[in-house]
Amino acid sequence: MGLGEFELIERYFRRPTEARRAARGDVPLGIGDDAAVLAPPPGRHLVAALDTLVEGRHFIAGSPPESIAHRALAVNLSDLAAMGAEPAWFLLSLTMPVADETFLEPFARGLLQLADQHAVALVGGDTTAGPLAVAVQAMGTLAPGTALTRTGGRPGDLVYVSGTPGDAAAGLQLVLDAGAGAVLDAAHREWLWNRFHFPTPRIALGQALVGIASACVDVSDGLAADAGRLARFSGCGLAIDAARLPISAALRAHAGEPGGRRMALTGGEDCELCFTVPPEKIDALTARLVNVKCPVSCIGELTAAGGVQLRDQGAALDIDWSGFDHFAQQGSSGKT
Ligand code: ADP
Ligand code: MG
Repeated sequence: MGLGEFELIERYFRRPTEARRAARGDVPLGIGDDAAVLAPPPGRHLVAALDTLVEGRHFIAGSPPESIAHRALAVNLSDLAAMGAEPAWFLLSLTMPVADETFLEPFARGLLQLADQHAVALVGGDTTAGPLAVAVQAMGTLAPGTALTRTGGRPGDLVYVSGTPGDAAAGLQLVLDAGAGAVLDAAHREWLWNRFHFPTPRIALGQALVGIASACVDVSDGLAADAGRLARFSGCGLAIDAARLPISAALRAHAGEPGGRRMALTGGEDCELCFTVPPEKIDALTARLVNVKCPVSCIGELTAAGGVQLRDQGAALDIDWSGFDHFAQQGSSGKT
């Protein structure tokens, strides 16, 4: 490696003592020793998630380093959000062919910018030479018994999704095929590009759903797949109302109609939350959302019968999955 490992960590990942203290007071010992010492608030449970991004599998060679770092942390924060946890700390495993400063500087910037936004502290990690791969382990806390799981949904619960799913998948299409966005105006192109490269983990929303949502799941493999997973884990079916899918203006301009709906249902890479709410808690949900700057849309309901159904004004529609398969083969969302 170009830079020594010690020098690299000091330069890019270890904050000056004062900045570390200002960020969080619950890291008695962070980067620099054999392991980190963390001080979870008394009485809270620890929540941990880990996701790995591998070049050529989860991101394309030559992706902006800021985006690789942002996405590696964002997908983990999104997993904590889906549990209703408050994120606190994370570890970073970075494997790269050479310790190249033109990669490390923007990588560290992208990583720490998102970390600072949510006051999560990088407390340690590992650095090795090899094909580019980034693994993040994120940790947070929640009050015992309050975790949002995939299993609590009941028939009749309303199904919601945050944001405008499908945008990230459209952004990836623009990355893979520069010609694909030729007809889009610059603002729409930029919106989709950003939704792919810099997705927003819905952390405040996740915590606001504690005590309200009966079940919650992170949408990363596509809304229909992840919502279907929530329904299955809850022992329910799922009816999605196609007309209620939130489609961004940019996605509609890019994919048209019904292409936009198909991408909203099947596109991967979003960091949105899909959650269910019992009808008697809708008013409480509305009240909670006042302070959360995140749009949510009701897209359907859990049903007693199994499977995912798509409806348009009551009539059943077939879901065309071909777009998704084609997309998966292009190799960005390599989730297994
Ligand atoms: P060890 O040989 O004990 O595993 P390392 O040399 O791997 O120690 O790491 C030294 C310190 O630097 C540890 O505190 C470790 O957590 C931290 N560290 C190593 N790599 C990273 C990284 N990529 N990001 C943040 N901290 C790191
Ligand atoms: Mg090590």
